[in-house]
Amino acid sequence: MRYNVAQLLKEQSGHTRQYTLHEDISHLDTDIVPLSALDGNLQLIRTADGVLVMGKLRASLELVCARCLDAFALPLQFALEEEFRPTIDITTGASLPLSDGDDAATRIDAHHELDLSEVVRQSILLAIPPSPICRTKCRGLCPHCGKNWNEGPCDCKRDEIDPRLQPLKQLLDKE
Ligand SMILES: [Zn+2]
Ligand SMILES: [Zn+2]
Repeated sequence: MRYNVAQLLKEQSGHTRQYTLHEDISHLDTDIVPLSALDGNLQLIRTADGVLVMGKLRASLELVCARCLDAFALPLQFALEEEFRPTIDITTGASLPLSDGDDAATRIDAHHELDLSEVVRQSILLAIPPSPICRTKCRGLCPHCGKNWNEGPCDCKRDEIDPRLQPLKQLLDKE
């Protein structure tokens, strides 16, 4: 996910470049299991201090449901907005000092290339819900026998129902 911004850095603030992004992200992070490529559009905008990267990206990821522990596909969309700053002055070739709050992930390297990998990795990890659920009505696992209730009720569940509540259960099961 590297972009050479040498030309853009020579232009005035406000100048932009558009890119279509299509990247394999299987090796980005062990916690990210992609089921598709990362796709989207990027806009690189020359600012007074560097290059602002804005993008709308999407990918399908494989996650494990926090309730039933089944793997499922989650379509993820997220926005990028990050300003990258040069390491070297494009006109003089002089090194530019790191300022406070400058992040190594958002530095434009000595070859005037910026690398989106780390920013994209962090954005994806932030966009993944902390307790992902395979469907809103996921019934989860039986705490006694471990059966996945999405596939049907288990025997121990039926045994525990108070006979007086049986009509209520039948009503709920019809839903
Ligand atoms: Zn589930
Ligand atoms: Zn059970």
